[in-house]
Amino acid sequence: MAEKGRSRRTALKLLAVVTGFFCFPTVSQAKTLATSPLRDNLLRPPGAVMEHHYPGKCIRCGRCVEVCPYHCVELLDIRHGLSAGTPIIDIEKSPCFLCMKCVHVCPTGALLPIEQHETRMGLAVIDHHTCVSWKPDSLLMCKTCYNVCPFRDTAIRMEEFRPHVDERYCTGCGICTNACLINRDQGGKAINVKPIYATIKLPEAPQ
Ligand code: SF4
Ligand code: SF4
Ligand code: SF4
Repeated sequence: MAEKGRSRRTALKLLAVVTGFFCFPTVSQAKTLATSPLRDNLLRPPGAVMEHHYPGKCIRCGRCVEVCPYHCVELLDIRHGLSAGTPIIDIEKSPCFLCMKCVHVCPTGALLPIEQHETRMGLAVIDHHTCVSWKPDSLLMCKTCYNVCPFRDTAIRMEEFRPHVDERYCTGCGICTNACLINRDQGGKAINVKPIYATIKLPEAPQ
């Protein structure tokens, strides 16, 4: 009986270690996350590994910067400590047009070769207080974000004259944010992309 209890405890401990290993970053990985340069509208290129692995995987070769035909990828400067020299995309300046060239030139797998629709750089979130179509007292309607989205009617759709983002399909490319006509007083636009820190399960590709 005592033997049975011991093996059950051992099994539970093992499970805790295994799930902890896969689900939670280590202390040094948590530190990397805490100092991550990512924030709203400041994102890693497509196919990036989880953020707490990123500074260790990227060798700062700049190939993703050179290959990008839209010049949207920049390397972070020395002020960014551990992340200095790693690539970032400021979508308010220039969004990612999902040409997928960068993911094929990365020599280390910091950017993994994924398909366009699998890209999850972040998630577009509409600010209902500033979006022209969502403001409660607004008599105007705007659908700029909807019009420019490469996955229109999948990642973003219009319902009752208002745009709605579908988190299952939004790639976080930032084309909507870049095109949004509203600049908020506190910075950002009426639609902003929140960075995604970890790989998430992808839905089936839309037909
Ligand atoms: S997918 Fe194309 S547009 Fe986007 S960052 Fe990579 S090279 Fe630039
Ligand atoms: S190509 Fe890959 S390794 Fe080189 S800078 Fe870009 S992300 Fe880093
Ligand atoms: S909703 Fe915005 S961020 Fe999401 S896929 Fe469409 S244009 Fe890109």
